[in-house]
Formats: sequence, C-alpha cells, structure tokens
Amino acid sequence: MQSQCPFCSVQCKMEIEQSMQPEDPYKRPRYTVNGLPNAASEGRLCVKGMHAYQHALSSERLAYPMARRNGVLERISWEEAHELITAQIRSSQENYGLDSVGLYGGGSLTNESAYLLGKFTRVALRSRYIDYNGRFCMSAAASAGNKAFGIDRGLTNSLADIEAAGCIMLAGTNIAECQPTLMPYFTRAKENGAYIIAIDPRQTGTTEFADLHLKVKPGMDAALANAMLRVIFDEGLTDPSFIADRTNGIEELKAHVAAIDLEETAELCGVPLADIRKAASAFGRASAAMVFTARGVEQQTDGYMAVRNFINLALVTGNAGKPGAGYGAVTGQGNGQGGREHGQKADQLPGYRSIEDPDHRAYIAGIWGVEPESLPGKGVSAYEMMEKVHEGEIRTLLVMGSNPIVSNPNADFVEEGLKKLDYLVVADMFLSETARLADLVLPVTSYLENEGTLTNLEGRVLLREASRAPHGEARHDWRILSDLAEQLGSGSKFSYASVEDIFEELRIASRGGVADYYGITYERLRREEGIYWPCPSTDHPGAARLFEERFAHPDGRAVLLPVPNHLPPEQTDSSYPLYLTTGRTMTHYLTGVQTRRSAGLAARDIESYAELHPKTARRLGLQAGELLRLASRRGEIVVRCRITASIREDTVFVPMHWGDSQCVNKLTNPALDPTCRMPGFKVCAVHVEPLLKV
Ligand code: SF4
Repeated sequence: MQSQCPFCSVQCKMEIEQSMQPEDPYKRPRYTVNGLPNAASEGRLCVKGMHAYQHALSSERLAYPMARRNGVLERISWEEAHELITAQIRSSQENYGLDSVGLYGGGSLTNESAYLLGKFTRVALRSRYIDYNGRFCMSAAASAGNKAFGIDRGLTNSLADIEAAGCIMLAGTNIAECQPTLMPYFTRAKENGAYIIAIDPRQTGTTEFADLHLKVKPGMDAALANAMLRVIFDEGLTDPSFIADRTNGIEELKAHVAAIDLEETAELCGVPLADIRKAASAFGRASAAMVFTARGVEQQTDGYMAVRNFINLALVTGNAGKPGAGYGAVTGQGNGQGGREHGQKADQLPGYRSIEDPDHRAYIAGIWGVEPESLPGKGVSAYEMMEKVHEGEIRTLLVMGSNPIVSNPNADFVEEGLKKLDYLVVADMFLSETARLADLVLPVTSYLENEGTLTNLEGRVLLREASRAPHGEARHDWRILSDLAEQLGSGSKFSYASVEDIFEELRIASRGGVADYYGITYERLRREEGIYWPCPSTDHPGAARLFEERFAHPDGRAVLLPVPNHLPPEQTDSSYPLYLTTGRTMTHYLTGVQTRRSAGLAARDIESYAELHPKTARRLGLQAGELLRLASRRGEIVVRCRITASIREDTVFVPMHWGDSQCVNKLTNPALDPTCRMPGFKVCAVHVEPLLKV
C-alpha cells in the first residue's frame, strides 16, 4: 500500500507492506513501513509516520453508525442515521431558524472534504455557523500573510530554498520534534554556513540544534521582534532600496521602532540584551535570511500582530522573493494549508474568497447554482461557536474530523455547552471524547481508505490515493455530506460520482481567487507528483517561490505594520504564580484520538505530564514521577511531574494530546486575538501542588 502520512503538514510518502508470519500461532500479519521519496520528505519518515498504519487498522475503529437510545449508543443502519439527522435538522431549523444548526470541521480533512463542508453548510443547511479546528492552528499566520503580503501561503518559498539561507530564525517552532523529516533542510543550510536562531520558552530538539537560543518568556514574542527591529535599524542593517521599492508603511514602523526601549523590552522578554543584539545582527547581516513561525508565536492573544512583527523583520532586511529569503508558517495539521483555503472558515468562500464581498458571493453562487442572496453571511470562529452552543443559539451541531472538547480552550465550558445541545452528530473513526457525548455517531474512512488532495506546508498540492477498502461500514466524508444534502432537498447540487468530481468543481470555484487551483488536475498530480498554487492554467508550472517581483496586493507592495509590545491578558499572581504553556510531543498528533490508539506511539508517551524546572519543583515539594494538580481560573487537571532544566523557572509545560482529567485545555484561557480570533493557548497563569500532600 502506498500513502501519505496523515500526521503533519509535510505529508511524507510511505509504503506499507503486509506479510504473514507463519511461525505466529495467532497468524497475525506483520507490517513493514518504508518512506518513499517525494519532493518534501525525500523518503524520510518520523516515528509518527512509521506507526501511522496502526490506528487505521485498530480494532477500536467505529464500524457502523450508532444512535443513543436510553442513554446508550446502539447500532443503526446508514438509512436510519440519515433519517434521524435529517429529521433533527428540519425540526431545529423550523423551530429555531436556519442558524440553529452548525457545522464544525477539521484541518486534517482533504481539500475536497473542506470544500464540501463549506458548500453543505451554505447551500444544504443555509446556516452561517461553520468553522473548524484549523482556527487554532493557522489563523494568526493566515491573517498576517494576507494583510502583509496579500496572500496566505504557509511558506513563501519551497523547502529547497532553505539551504540557500545565511541565517534562519525559528520562532516558536519545534521542527526537530514536530516535523522531524524537515530537519535535513536546516542541517544542510547549517553546513552551508547558516546561523540558526531558535526562540522558545523551552529547550527542545530545535533549540539544541540552533546556534543561539532565545528563551523568551511565554507570550512575549512580538516584543522580542520589536527589540530585534530596533537593533537592525540602529545598526543600519535594513535594505533601503527594497523597502522603498517594494513596501508601504516604513515611516510609521521606523517611528514606532525608534521609541522601543531596548533594556526594558529585553527585561519584559526575559532574554539577555546581548543575545537579542547577536540574533538581530546575524539576521540583518545575512545575505539571505528566512524567518519561520509556528504555534509558539501564533497561539497568542496577539498572535496576528506577533507574526506581523516577524514578517516586518524579513521585509525591512529585504528578505523576500529570492533563494534563501522569505517567511514561513510551519503548519501543524495534515492539511493545515489546504483546509484553510476552500471555505470551511466562518468568513470564507472557496478560493480564499470573502463571504462578505458581493462579487465573490456572486461568483461562487453561480458555480453552486444558487442565488447570491441565499448564501448566509459571516459566522463566528470555532470557540465563539462553542459560546453560541452554550447560549442555545446553535441547537444541533455536526462535527466532522475534530474533537472540540479537547482542542478548545476552557474545555469544561465547552463540554457543558455540548451537553446542552438538542442533538450532536459526530463523524469520526473512533469514539473520541466528543463522540462519547454524541446522540449519533457516524464511522468515517481513514487516510488509507479515502482518496483526495492535500496541500502541504509549502502550498504544494499532493494527491493521496486510496489503498484499502473502507473499514466495516465506514463511509467517506464527501459521501456522507452528499447523501445528507440529497435528503435535505439539495441533492442535484451534490451529485458527485467521485472525489475527483468534487476537485473539478473546486478548481473552478478557486479560479481567479487568491488560492488558485484552476491549473491543477488529478491527471497532472499523478504525473507531476505535487504542484504549487497559485496555478492559474493547466500549462502553468505552479509557483514554488512567491514575490520574486511583486507582492499580491493590488499595488504589488508588501505592508509594514508597527506592532506594540503586548502583555498576555492573564498574568501570574500569588494565587496562580506560574505561567502555563502548552504544545506537542514528538509521538502524538492533535488531541491524540488517532495516535493514542497506535500502540507504537502510545507506548512512548502513555500519559500526559507537566515539565517543571528543578528549582520550581523543589520549592513546591514535588518529586519526578509523582502526580500533581494543576489549576487555573477555569479548571484543574492531574498529570505526572517531570523535572527538567530545559524549561524556564517561571513556566510549566503540559502537552495537548490528552483528554478527560489530563486535558490541559481545561486550564487554558479562551481570550481571543481581536483580528484572527485565535485563543491564547500559549500562556495562562496556574497553581501547581502535589496531588497527595504529606
Ligand atoms: Fe512526515 Fe510529519 Fe508524518 Fe512525521 S508526522 S512522517 S514528518 S508527515
């Protein structure tokens, strides 16, 4: 079987061979997994990719639809499932209006599923409430890219460009542990002489690889970039001709940076000023430099502004549109890039069109065969949908490819809300924490079973072919949505014979939009093995490197923006004296629904934990391995104590992959970024104590 790993945005290609073991008395098959070369991974796989087949073959997979009867989920047929859902949607909309039904999607779904989720919500449900878990992954970088460059593509360059960089800044991204197969690009850059700077409150595989680690206080990334900008301006390291020819806003930025107090800002960031000077100087003096951000910078209540400030660094030094020079948002989810382009966002239509723009509405309405006026307006972001659920405005919710109870901040509040729903439908491979609450559960196909396109972190579209028959009665997302649309009376607009049919419509819907897929076809994808967007015609090669001559704004210029120093809204105090920051481990993916069911991954990290600095642990009377209680203003969890000098003394780290009593999002702050509506996952204030006090 050939496939692509579903567990991150690199989309490494793999071959899985099944063989029998005659000597095994239980006749269990053996699986051998090997990486296959594709343009991004060059044949490498990390530990997640090596074990990704295990969840797809798990005996815990859901094999048939189930409905809750007398409090228990019982097997039903697909026909019954469709009838129940359709009746519930009709009753909800008749009694409470069209917007009483919402849809919550996922950033791991294929482009075709993402497209269909948006179309289903706007055409079959005619509801404005749709958003998805990608809001927590990419919204800050997406808004920043759109506003700064006029386009949101994760990497402005191909991965191959990295090797030409003289300096690389990795801000809030732990590539060594989250996208390990990308590390050889950075190793080769280093061998070519690149100076690597890593920004992270923790010591990680990435910071150890770097030449310089700026161990920033959680939430202070934008301020750190301000200090580096000040040094770059002071030392005359800007690129005046690039700024004059290709950007707007320099005077405002210059005035803002001139007012930055370096000592005070270094103190705010908790980083020695000498190190800030060293980083800024190396970045500004490099003949070509790249800056990458990820969730460390982005999952903040000023995530949009923080990313803008790292883009400011690239732009004032003239680092765009050439080999080894550019910006990249290192996407986390398997289809983090494509999932955000085709209309499953609250304010978006396919091709990255705006749902509020009359021309965009008219274009998409024409393709969908509906009147523009029939399309609903803008909805709200993922966490705000959970608030609408709580308030009773959304009364029926369909969840596809997501586990919102574990992935949303303020998770106890979210769970309370979902329990209040009149009806919750969850389509998943497993009985996730959210599916356990559902009134109706639908089994869906795994990455080995469904076909479709995914867009990797470079903006390169890849085709993943199906290599196995569906498990049990599991169905493809697109088939479920099409069948439901038919039952709801919109069948003629969802009469697809194959997933390729959906892609053909998506191509046209994206034509002329920011994310233009028009020139990409399945036939080309099979032949060329990946094509970058924008690709406006079938003879266009795709754009590997953006902005060589102009940015995507109408005047061709990028936009600089003054970014104020910002303190996270929740600060430590005597009741909650430590910062909590959250993140990933090398072995798990998102809320762990799939990786916790892959034996080879679960065995490596069987439970959650909290990392504390040795001095902090001593002060609190904590020993390594004992259980501790972590509490914030919103909830509490119990996890095991790990003691490591790799974390700041004022900070605790807890990974995000577990639910129930280990769910770190019971603690996190639901305050949202005012521009992109990203929650501030990366910093809140907590109290830590031993579970058993002696
Ligand atoms: Fe590749 Fe990412 Fe899968 Fe690892 S998790 S094998 S880096 S796609």
